[in-house]
Amino acid sequence: MAKSSNSEKLYRKAEKVLAGGVSRNTVFRQPYPNYANSASGCYITDIEGIERIDFANNMAALIHGHSFPPVVDAVIEQLRKGTAYTLASEIEVAFAQHLIKRVKSFERIRFTNSGTEAVMAMIKASRAFTEKAKIAKAEGSYHGTYDFAEVSQTANPSNWGKIDRPSSVPLAHGTPVGVSKDVLIYPYNDIERTLAILDRQAGQIACVIIDPVPHRVGLVPGNDDFIRAVYDWTRRNGALMVFDEVVTFRVNYGGAQQKYTVQPDLTSLGKIIGGGFPVGAVAGRADVMKVFDPHEKSLLLPYSGTFSANPITMTAGYKAMEYFDKTAVKKLNALAQKAVSQIREVIRLADVPVSVTGAGSMFRMHLRPTPPTTYREAYQSKEVSDVVKELLDFMYYKENVLMINTFSCMLSTVMTPKEIDRLTEGLHRAFVELKP
Ligand code: PMP
Repeated sequence: MAKSSNSEKLYRKAEKVLAGGVSRNTVFRQPYPNYANSASGCYITDIEGIERIDFANNMAALIHGHSFPPVVDAVIEQLRKGTAYTLASEIEVAFAQHLIKRVKSFERIRFTNSGTEAVMAMIKASRAFTEKAKIAKAEGSYHGTYDFAEVSQTANPSNWGKIDRPSSVPLAHGTPVGVSKDVLIYPYNDIERTLAILDRQAGQIACVIIDPVPHRVGLVPGNDDFIRAVYDWTRRNGALMVFDEVVTFRVNYGGAQQKYTVQPDLTSLGKIIGGGFPVGAVAGRADVMKVFDPHEKSLLLPYSGTFSANPITMTAGYKAMEYFDKTAVKKLNALAQKAVSQIREVIRLADVPVSVTGAGSMFRMHLRPTPPTTYREAYQSKEVSDVVKELLDFMYYKENVLMINTFSCMLSTVMTPKEIDRLTEGLHRAFVELKP
């Protein structure tokens, strides 16, 4: 990070025009962010000319890495035919057909431009369908930047309250009080406490949102008994069970929901289904999705979006998902398993109190000897997060490995055991070097 670096110079300009010098808080780094120049496959090159292995894949959004040739070719062809029409197009129908074939619970789909919008549309659809206002979400979980979905995102020991009744902590100063009032917070995977919390507001809840492998809760999969208990509760109480699979859709051919004995009423999607372009979608039961249907005499939920289902995203997403077939999913998940077992071996050899959680092609490391099972266990104190930052900087600047800032990796199908070896060897050096 030499003072004269290109990134520093660029950041000095950025500070004067972008709030905080960045467009996304996730790229912010002290003392300044490093800037990308180009990327190809599973490698990304910065503006100093340094190439790194990319285990972040644009925050889990790239399932085939960068500039995947079949996506590039299809998009170039589509670019020549137009990028956004006022009219609907054939490709959105074909892509919707593809997604509906993949997943049992999908009967109808609406595309959006981001995961945030997808979650918002899903919450609004649940309210319109049930005619109820409240929602429930897991403590600490991230579901994008819609006010209601943001509640409890910053839950920490100073504000999270008793575990029997976790606080509905608003994200920002200025969030209307009504928002927190209408969002119940439940402790993930804790059946007894969750049902007691839901029972207290029974009759008023539109939906219970579940991320089947919530990143900020510790990247621990929801267990089947928990999912089933919530599902049964929603059946008894006229509410919907909705899944946020914006990240987790990569876990299996039919998303993380594939492995459960009950299926969600609605699902929000995003990230990988855009093939590298901005995207989101809400999918689910035909009768619920009718709230969006303009045939309905009393249309419940007018929902649009200038760039929703634009042909570039639809083309890229469809191509990416076609290539993410059952064989590709299996191969990718096996590579992730190999990575996790190599990392566990490195942890043992370096003799450090680190554990690993994850599912499918994603995994996360925690600076604690046993894997966390709750948000409160996964929560990082300032001291712990400072060490995580040091480890990430070591990996980034010394080992030339880019990871997600939660100390997580999201693999892509273009990776091979070679990249996994570089990751694990780098981690070994990082653990040994930074051992207290
Ligand atoms: N839900 C989950 C689980 C997410 O992780 C994210 C983004 N990381 C979102 C929703 C929001 O998606 P987007 O950033 O595309 O708005």
